Amino acid sequence: MPFVYSPKMLSVDLTRGECRVERIPRRVVELYVGGRGVNAKILYDRVDPEIDGLDPGNIVVFGAGPLVGTLAPGACRTRITTVSPLTGLIGDSSVGGHWGPELRYAGLDHVLVSGRAKSPVYLHIVDGGCEIRGAEGLWGMNTREASESLKAMGGDPEAQALCIGPAGENLVRYACVVGDGYNVAGRTGVGAVMGSKNLKAVLVRGTGGVRVADAGAFMEAALDAHRLVKEHPQYRSLSEVGLMRGMLEGYHGEEELRSLNPQTFLDRYVYKRKTCFGCTAHCMYHFAVSEGPMAGCYSGNFPANPLIEYGSKLRIRDWPSILRLTELSTEYGLDVDGAGSTILFAVELAEAGLLGGEDAGGMEIGYGDFELCEELLRMIAFREGLGDAMAEGSRWMARLRGGDSGRYTREIKGLELMPGSLPHYFNALAHAVSGRGGCHTRSQCFVVARYVSPEEAEARFGTRSAVEPRATEGKAEMLAYYEDLLAVGDEVGVCNFFTGESCSALGFTELSGLLGAATGMGTTPETLRRCGERAVNLERLFNLRRGLTRADDTIPPKLVSEDDGEHEAIERDLERMLDEYYHTRGWSPEEGAPEKETLERLMIEGPA
Ligand code: SF4
Repeated sequence: MPFVYSPKMLSVDLTRGECRVERIPRRVVELYVGGRGVNAKILYDRVDPEIDGLDPGNIVVFGAGPLVGTLAPGACRTRITTVSPLTGLIGDSSVGGHWGPELRYAGLDHVLVSGRAKSPVYLHIVDGGCEIRGAEGLWGMNTREASESLKAMGGDPEAQALCIGPAGENLVRYACVVGDGYNVAGRTGVGAVMGSKNLKAVLVRGTGGVRVADAGAFMEAALDAHRLVKEHPQYRSLSEVGLMRGMLEGYHGEEELRSLNPQTFLDRYVYKRKTCFGCTAHCMYHFAVSEGPMAGCYSGNFPANPLIEYGSKLRIRDWPSILRLTELSTEYGLDVDGAGSTILFAVELAEAGLLGGEDAGGMEIGYGDFELCEELLRMIAFREGLGDAMAEGSRWMARLRGGDSGRYTREIKGLELMPGSLPHYFNALAHAVSGRGGCHTRSQCFVVARYVSPEEAEARFGTRSAVEPRATEGKAEMLAYYEDLLAVGDEVGVCNFFTGESCSALGFTELSGLLGAATGMGTTPETLRRCGERAVNLERLFNLRRGLTRADDTIPPKLVSEDDGEHEAIERDLERMLDEYYHTRGWSPEEGAPEKETLERLMIEGPA
């Protein structure tokens, strides 16, 4: 089979106003595949370890893996990788929709942006060529307006835009990047990095295609993969109610289930189902509110996160208010988890008597207050009043406020996390070691903890205890397995709903078959797993180089119940699980640094 994958990267220096195209070396592709892995390698090789996330010396890399734009299921994801201004560690976020496929149809696989433009600009990429264009007229627009204007300006409705909103422009540390006005790369502040470079958007249009190595074998592998997805027991649930039902069951009480019933949302507010490129699950919803005070509110997607952030945590109990806050977050370009958790932090400080009066700008801060949330989102996005401190994220805000404030944060390594508690030991360990901070998507730990059966755990990880909520045994093995699998999915560019147990039809075997037929790479499930493991290790090295220590692999007291001794138990057992996890990974027990043998086994080298 010929080797047909020779990825190209558009390299844009905004300080000099220069664009050029370079090839990614074949050895880098064989070791890191593409997407998240290649992005991490580029960041590791090219960024000064001391650089701040908002410094012009930082870079931001967009990467669409080798399956993106093909007929493989959910082959649509673009990874955006940078030094996070929120955590100071590796920042990495993923966006679905159509931008990544369009980039590949333009004959490119990665875009690297360095430097800082003197005034606002956007990139206009057409079939491998790129112009840096002025964006003064777009600066200040929300993400939906900017996306629509760009398409109109380019005169091509097929062009795909990734934009930032006011939050990114104003360097809110958890600002996101939004595709098509509603697909969100939410985490780690990638939107603030674009803002720091005066980069409003990247518009791309491609009229080519993606060449595969063996069309017959690829079609067979792709059809098989689609069949496996559709036959998966969770497919129907993902396809019919997205992740909402599971989220609600996991985090809502009886009262919330009554007031925020998913069926009410589907019956009253959804007017169209939507899917990303190449996906049969169509788990997204176009929603609109047609009556009442929120009439006119609409958006192209409703992820489950706002239900947790604005519903469970902030106790907003009606659908129209939740939908309006979702719409606003997306328009401003704010990460819902970052914004929701930071508002909750302010509410809990106020409840504890640590925030109020002048400090709070005279606002009454409390639970269940839609108007307050609406106003705080605006103040954060524009850094007004209290919003200026909140735009720093809860860890930074706690440091600014001092005193006891730190006890009320819900973040790990500086990244706020979605759940209100971490009762399952697997979730606790997965969050503690996640390389990008408080995040479940490095392992899809919630769904893994829920859907892996004891029989499966025994067969794959040697013990049924792996899925026991309060047992430490087997957690390290299970976590390493899913972290590697999710990393491989992020490298090839498929949606992690298909690798992470919410509808986990695609394992190392299926991904290896698809990748081999698409690219001509001679992979096996075992060698492919090592590519995922390599990315996890390289990201760890990157973080260690930037000052990460074992003490950072932890969970905050706020995340477990403080009054029934749970925190003590989890803290104690987390140390034991960390020892086991480091050992499983081949990392040192003191700092969790990859040992020399691990680096040799994985062929991880220094800068290329
Ligand atoms: S499962 Fe949902 S988020 Fe994933 S690719 Fe399909 S439509 Fe997009």
